[in-house]
Amino acid sequence: MRRRGDRTELPLDVRRTGDDRTDDAALVAAVLDALPSPTLLLDADGTVLLANSGWTAAAGVLDDDRFRVGVGGNYFAMLRSVREDDSPRLLIDALRDLSAGGRAQVAADYDVSHPAGTRWYHLQATRVDRAGQIVVTHTDVTSRVRAERTSAWQARHDHLTGLPNRAHLHELIDAQLQRPDRASVAVLFLDVDGFKDVNDSLGHDVGDELLRQLATRLVAETRAQDTVGRLGGDEFVVLCADCDTEGAERLAGRFQRTFGKPFELAGRRTRLSTSIGIATAPSGRLEAVRSTDLVRDADLAMYAAKAAGRNRIRSFSPDLRTAAERRLLVAAELREAIDSGQLMLHYQPVMHLPTGEVTGVEALLRWQHPERGLLAPMEFIPLAEQSDLMAPLTRWVLASAVRQTAAWDAAGLTLVTGVNISATHFGTGTLVDDVTGALAEGGLAPERLVLELTETCVAEDAAGAAAQVAALRIRGVEVSIDDFGSGYSSLSKLVSIPAGVLKIDRSLVSGLDDRGSHAGAAVAAVVALGRTCGMRTLAEGVETAGQLAQAAALGCTFAQGFHIARPMPAEEVPAWMAARPRPASARSRLIAAAGQLAGSR
Ligand code: C2E
Ligand code: MG
Ligand code: MG
Repeated sequence: MRRRGDRTELPLDVRRTGDDRTDDAALVAAVLDALPSPTLLLDADGTVLLANSGWTAAAGVLDDDRFRVGVGGNYFAMLRSVREDDSPRLLIDALRDLSAGGRAQVAADYDVSHPAGTRWYHLQATRVDRAGQIVVTHTDVTSRVRAERTSAWQARHDHLTGLPNRAHLHELIDAQLQRPDRASVAVLFLDVDGFKDVNDSLGHDVGDELLRQLATRLVAETRAQDTVGRLGGDEFVVLCADCDTEGAERLAGRFQRTFGKPFELAGRRTRLSTSIGIATAPSGRLEAVRSTDLVRDADLAMYAAKAAGRNRIRSFSPDLRTAAERRLLVAAELREAIDSGQLMLHYQPVMHLPTGEVTGVEALLRWQHPERGLLAPMEFIPLAEQSDLMAPLTRWVLASAVRQTAAWDAAGLTLVTGVNISATHFGTGTLVDDVTGALAEGGLAPERLVLELTETCVAEDAAGAAAQVAALRIRGVEVSIDDFGSGYSSLSKLVSIPAGVLKIDRSLVSGLDDRGSHAGAAVAAVVALGRTCGMRTLAEGVETAGQLAQAAALGCTFAQGFHIARPMPAEEVPAWMAARPRPASARSRLIAAAGQLAGSR
């Protein structure tokens, strides 16, 4: 063996003689050396005949004795020492076959573990002569493979939390369902309650930080064989292998407890709750279930959990699917109803108590369903809320109510019209434009419109609601708080809303002529509260003369209820108004009745 320059060379066992042989060897050696890739010339048994300088350099980089195979060493033995699996044997068989003329070339990719990280090589071998000598080149493709792996990883994971994303989750769930050794598979669908509030009030960066913290807590609660993934937004899915419904419910309970511990966000401590739906693949029939079905069922169960109130766990049952199908059907019908004139408004008169005059009406939505007849709002409004139909529905109500009020105006009937606004409309950000647009189009002064908001509008995003209400009141539109006293009332949030009228809920008003109840004291307190905040009050659901008289005696400004009039179609309103007793006599009867009530106490 002699060394020439910086390459290693073995006297070639080429079947030539004399000077020719030396020249050939030198030529081959020079050609190999010119190649940048680590390259070897091997004989049929894998003995290294020539190694170029690239090979020597690469062995130096790897700094591993296994790769320091020089001229005279055996390449096949080196391959066997590098990997313990079957791949060296297959590669060696292919190289022997190449050497024997059984194939034209061999190409293979293989990786080498290395303390500084795995390196990948693309191996390519060709036969150089009939004696079976072969040239093997090794191209380092580590950076390309790493880039490919990174982008493949990114395609399957959520960039924010590093958890499997929707597509990858489905692959993982399907893989679990296909495993014959799995007894059961459960999927938990989690949705954070009120996540939007955090995002809106503390900003998206804080929202992102919260999602990362949620992901960490979820992973900490699960076992190694479970998978936590993020579908997007605040929706997480947990795949729980060998987990029956009871096990999944226990896990869901642990998630709720860990979410109940405060999160540190932007220097504040925030507590969160979550709604969790569970779907379990029936044991013994796992392979018949698809991951899309399982996740959809868990989603439906989560939806039912959320509808039942926050912070709940619900397991899937088939009736949820029937209900969902029905919701879809009715939502499609409702969408159609808006365009095809099946919606109508009924108007309920509002009486001004100090004068006994009817000064306004409340517009109440009805759906003339082609098969089910006239539907009350509670039969379809909750569905419209869930199907993103509330804003188009309210735009229709606003336009119709404004047009009707302007038409009455033109006929000499001056009324202020109330329109109910749903909490979801505040989230769309279009409320102010929708209202001003309807007024401009219908040609009605803003003072003639009252928007009725419920306490939930205020509770969900107090700051956002207050800003929109303020913008409307600046334009001259009146705002009232509807159903006050029916739900949980947050007074601090309520006073932050610049409303002008407080509508006292029917549940309080109905007790007014029940002597044993405390309704009188409660209504008096609400009237006083209203006065303190500069608001007038309206007694809702007045059904008897006694309730009406009490409401007037307690200082309510307005009253509305079946005792005065039931809601009626627009065309009946003028005749009803004309048939009413003159306000002066109505007023004197009221005052007399109020006096009688006071005297009988
Ligand atoms: P609300 O805004 O509190 O409307 C008053 C409801 O009480 C009406 O029911 C009305 O018919 C009923 N009512 C009035 N006086 C009496 C009474 O003396 N006794 C009894 N028992 N009930 C009385 P309706 O029309 O079924 O509407 C129910 C709710 O549906 C409304 O409550 C309102 O929250 C909602 N709603 C109605 N129309 C719309 C609308 O256009 N948009 C939105 N977002 N909600 C609407
Ligand atoms: Mg109302
Ligand atoms: Mg009401």
